[in-house]
Amino acid sequence: MTHYTAASAIVIGGSIGGLTTALLLRDLGFTVDVYERTAGPLDGRGSGIVLQPDTVRWFTERSTQHIDDLSTSTNYVQYLDRSGDVRYREQCTWTYTSWGTFYRALLADFGTEHYHYGEFACGFSQDDRRATVRFVSGRTESADLVVFADGVTSMARERFDADADLRYAGYIGWRGTVGLRELDAGTQAVLRDAITYDVIPNSHITMYPIPGEHSLRMEDRLMNYVWYRNVPAGPELTEMLLDKRGFPGTVSVHPGQVQDRYVAELKAAAVELLAPAVAEVVTATETPYLQVLSDVRSTRMAQGRVALIGDAACASRPHAAAGTAKAAADGWALAAALGDAGGDIASALAKWEPAQLQLSDSLLRRVVAMGERSQFTNTWTPGDPDLRFGLYGPGR
Ligand SMILES: Cc1cc2nc3c(=O)[nH]c(=O)nc-3n(C[C@H](O)[C@H](O)[C@H](O)COP(=O)(O)OP(=O)(O)OC[C@H]3O[C@@H](n4cnc5c(N)ncnc54)[C@H](O)[C@@H]3O)c2cc1C
Repeated sequence: MTHYTAASAIVIGGSIGGLTTALLLRDLGFTVDVYERTAGPLDGRGSGIVLQPDTVRWFTERSTQHIDDLSTSTNYVQYLDRSGDVRYREQCTWTYTSWGTFYRALLADFGTEHYHYGEFACGFSQDDRRATVRFVSGRTESADLVVFADGVTSMARERFDADADLRYAGYIGWRGTVGLRELDAGTQAVLRDAITYDVIPNSHITMYPIPGEHSLRMEDRLMNYVWYRNVPAGPELTEMLLDKRGFPGTVSVHPGQVQDRYVAELKAAAVELLAPAVAEVVTATETPYLQVLSDVRSTRMAQGRVALIGDAACASRPHAAAGTAKAAADGWALAAALGDAGGDIASALAKWEPAQLQLSDSLLRRVVAMGERSQFTNTWTPGDPDLRFGLYGPGR
């Protein structure tokens, strides 16, 4: 294993992909600095993440924090119908965290000394020895290795693949959370130990309980959901994405900023279309928010001593619940390639790239097919094993 004690690394984007990679590079001996555009600790908006092995690998293999202290689990996958009856149910355990809980745990391990808030990267260049990142603040920083983990709206992506544009999926995800204890006792009993789906024509909703903001106790858990609803591209979508201040959202409209009439329509539709327990979760949500679902994939992830990882390299619809796992997997594979490289960073990146490109390609194809089944061809069959979550394939 090569150690990089005299080497430095810059990571752009201090979210799950960036922090996981920063921690792994530091373990290899790099002096690592993370630059995050947000001015202070990131706000998770309280939503959930389904935990896959790659996502939690930092905690299972390297951290003194234990994943059991960051997560909740359920034992069933179930589909409800409009009347509330169980259409399909199987025993299957999944674990979850909330984005904020997970982010805080990664940041606690990395520390804040080398985590720089409020720095928006706007360009980079490199020569044979160093890569340099430019920031809108006027700052420039150089290092032996630069990793862009700057998410779905990546500034760097265009420099890797000028043709990699976001392609709208044709539907949006309405997201929200509500305290489990705020729900009717019967609703709690139906939902508390399962991932619950409700599939209706050209749409579906999925929900599961996640940890509360600062507590794993059952009474503090939150029900977290995504309701996938078709909205054609064009003026209808553009209008919907204008927030209450009149600013256009590109990838999301944040909680509390969605125009009231769209929230009212969402809640009315929930009552009309969904199983009563599922509808109650939606109607009880104070500030549902929406995410525009798009796919994008760069055909390159390595360029000399600069790497592109996570959502920056490939972002896709969340049907496989694998976005965080892929970001973490990119980081783990990068660290492994560097560890085997004998100190030649550019050749490590070149060796790392093909398998990660293949992984993003197979994930993207799978989630596009899943989305087509639920939103357009109405062939999403409850219990079909092909519809299971997983980064490497259904259920894997
Ligand atoms: C605040 C927040 C909340 C989220 N909540 C959820 C959730 O509840 N459920 C879920 O499934 N997924 C959530 N995600 C998305 C999820 O983290 C990603 O889909 C996945 O983990 C891949 O992570 P990533 O690190 O590649 O990208 P992201 O998580 O998107 O992180 C990219 C990071 O880069 C920063 N950044 C962007 N551009 C620049 C720039 N030019 N200079 C410096 N920094 C930049 C962003 O502020 C962000 O912190 C959230 C992301 C964020 C940022």
